[in-house]
Amino acid sequence: MKKSLPLLAAAAWLALASCSKSRASTDDAKQFLSETEARLLALNAEGQRADWVHENFITDDTEGLSAKADQRAIDETVKRAKESTSFTELALPDDEARKVKLLKVGLVLATPSDPKESEEVTRLSSSLDGAYGKGKYCPERLKNAPNKCLEVEDITKIMANSRDPKELLDVWTGWHAISPPMRKDFTRFVELSNKGARELGFKDTGALWRSKYDLPPDDFSKELDRLWDQVKPLYVSLHAYVRWKLHERYGDAVPANGPLPAHLLGNIWAQDWTNVYPLVAPKSADPGYDLTQILKGRNTSARDMVHYGENFFKSLGFAPLPATFWERSLFEKPRDRDVVCHASAWDVDFVEDLRVKMCIDPTAEYFTTIHHELGHNFYQRAYMAQPFLFRDSANDGFHEAIGDTIALSVTPEYLVKLGLIRQAPDASKDIGLLLDKALDKIAFLPFGLMIDQWRWKVFSGEIPPDKYNQAWWDLRFKYQGIAPPVARGEADFDPGAKYHVAADIPYMRYFLADILQFQFHRALAKEAGCPAGGDVPLHRCSIYQSKAAGDKLNAMLQMGASKPWQDALYTISGRREMDAGAIRDYFKPLEAWLNQQNQGKPAGW
Ligand SMILES: [Zn+2]
Repeated sequence: MKKSLPLLAAAAWLALASCSKSRASTDDAKQFLSETEARLLALNAEGQRADWVHENFITDDTEGLSAKADQRAIDETVKRAKESTSFTELALPDDEARKVKLLKVGLVLATPSDPKESEEVTRLSSSLDGAYGKGKYCPERLKNAPNKCLEVEDITKIMANSRDPKELLDVWTGWHAISPPMRKDFTRFVELSNKGARELGFKDTGALWRSKYDLPPDDFSKELDRLWDQVKPLYVSLHAYVRWKLHERYGDAVPANGPLPAHLLGNIWAQDWTNVYPLVAPKSADPGYDLTQILKGRNTSARDMVHYGENFFKSLGFAPLPATFWERSLFEKPRDRDVVCHASAWDVDFVEDLRVKMCIDPTAEYFTTIHHELGHNFYQRAYMAQPFLFRDSANDGFHEAIGDTIALSVTPEYLVKLGLIRQAPDASKDIGLLLDKALDKIAFLPFGLMIDQWRWKVFSGEIPPDKYNQAWWDLRFKYQGIAPPVARGEADFDPGAKYHVAADIPYMRYFLADILQFQFHRALAKEAGCPAGGDVPLHRCSIYQSKAAGDKLNAMLQMGASKPWQDALYTISGRREMDAGAIRDYFKPLEAWLNQQNQGKPAGW
């Protein structure tokens, strides 16, 4: 996770600019943009600083101060976006035109110009967010327990660890009971949010969201379908394999044919299946080492863990992190105060004040996470020479994709080079390593795709309010091959049980990141001397110590958001189109193995 600019992340309040009588010139636009950038940089840096203090020292006071600082930055952004509409008719030079566009399409929520409606949509937005945050399930059986209710974290743990279908069904149903009360507010929210988007010249809010991808909104949708078609055969194979393995385990609770029940995949949204790995693992899949045990055995400190990550980037030719990174970051959970431990990477002053904030344990998982987080930091530093409005990733999928790309280089061979393990497991262990990864990355793809397929259709009116839940499950069936474990109806509102829907956060970035990271990895692997189809398979290729890969990576990172993402993609991969074929290349041995295992078994749903 990264800390994003409030400018691009927060719901913002935008009203239509009143028609200006005076004619604006290109020089006016340049002047306006340079003032805007200076002002927004100052306000966003103040906001970041206040947020940092708040998340490292949680009290009512720090919460109030950070909310206020963020609001100042958002209000100014809205004001400036509104003013910038007077330049949209001008034929501006590329950079200025792009900045004006970024100011406008960075908004997630455009509020209508009517102040009453504007206030109403803002209130609905925070009350939906709040309803999710307060959501809990209080089962009868805990009536007399000290903790009577289960929050989403408790539910996540039960979904991950329980193998009792009755308990899993109970918890699944319980969590999905938090959202029916959101339905009325959500319906009204959609109406008002669309009204604001239309005033800005977009067909609806979905079109506003799609317009930030440097493609006509409808072409972008087609592009996503194309990517999904590329990767779907692998998903269908994984789905078929998991289905018959879970059928062996759970009997008829998992049908031998047809969709998978949503409550038995180890995750409340069935978006990540890693937790069922032990139920589906191939025989003799143990790689022969346990990185967590090794790190613990060596008394690896949190700081040592971060050094491993930094050394990775130094080996690619990147400059060391600044001294302030080591002085100001948070690496360990403090004993004396509340902090937000969820891992994040920051660039507090948008220049060189890089930091991470995470509570590191010496485990294999954190070992990967620190490589991921530093990917954000090195991206942030690479684009710091850009003008303020370009200090972001090429599109919102790129930032997460970079962190994940780096994490793909944490291979057994890399661990050997670090001296953490003596010898990498032979190719016979590949299937276990790849299957574990596929349950995360491949299982997620159709989920990452369907969330906004649903929302875009809701915003466009293609899905009317009286079909919200039906359409949700139709899409989950179509893309994921997943069905609800009990009958659902329009009295339910299952989309609201997913945070990003309730909190109005666009989701397609996660699908894009999942695709892009493999494309980046394949391109960098080629630079590092392990091309796809060569002697070293992609999943065993680490770009560690490859200056050539580092140069290629840096060439893209330093562009920031200054050019359309297609240009950035071309810089790193030599192609202007996204290509999900890289996923198929990466998982090639697994796909062959799955197809062999699935022989004579049904596939599809
Ligand atoms: Zn991240």
